[in-house]
Amino acid sequence: MGRIAVLSDIHANREALEAVLDDARARGCERFVCLGDIVGYGADPVVCLEMLRSLPCEVVLLGNHDAVAAGLEEPESFNDLAATAILWTRRQLAPEQWDWLAGLPLLAGLSLRAEGATDVVLAHASPAAPADWPYLWGPLEAAVAADAAGAPLVLVGHTHQVAAFRIDREEGARRVTPREVRSVPGSRHVINVGSVGQPRDGDPRAAYAVLDPDAGIVTIRRVDYDIATAQRKIRDVGLPVELADRLGVGR
Ligand code: ZN
Repeated sequence: MGRIAVLSDIHANREALEAVLDDARARGCERFVCLGDIVGYGADPVVCLEMLRSLPCEVVLLGNHDAVAAGLEEPESFNDLAATAILWTRRQLAPEQWDWLAGLPLLAGLSLRAEGATDVVLAHASPAAPADWPYLWGPLEAAVAADAAGAPLVLVGHTHQVAAFRIDREEGARRVTPREVRSVPGSRHVINVGSVGQPRDGDPRAAYAVLDPDAGIVTIRRVDYDIATAQRKIRDVGLPVELADRLGVGR
């Protein structure tokens, strides 16, 4: 079965999205899923939304920024930078694009076998209370997410930081090295695939994951992209300069 590229938190960064899609195709990915936050922060919401719609995506989830862009929520919990950017974003999108975002689900399941049970659960924030957008930072939150999902593998985004957690009966929940996670019989994994368009783990390269269903391996990829162009566009459209600066340092 074909490899699956798992993208999250694209955040209207066209240059990062294009670089990730090139990398994913070069790695043999034929299937795509998106864990939400297509828009917000970056200068190319319309282009990124349309790129996503033209991909053969099996799943596209709603992110908290998408929800505000679509008018489903107001940016009450957003900081000033995020709120400024998302209200600008809302004005860039056409009503038909708001409607498309508004119709995206909060959760999805994926079966890696032809007609098998759900073995991967996907969420933007967490399968536990996904509409409340909780942040999944540590092993305790990962265990709650895995229990809510009831599947051996949970893939999330939202924090913009790559991370992986293993939950098993003997050792409970613990953090593991996220670079390459192999499925282990009797263990469950929760993996944060990081952010395509605005990484915040100190590595400014775009992040996404490749899921190989046959080998049972999730590999985190970091991809160089044209950061300078993405930064210039943010400044050119008049969005806060801090949003351009942070792309250069991955924070
Ligand atoms: Zn995000």
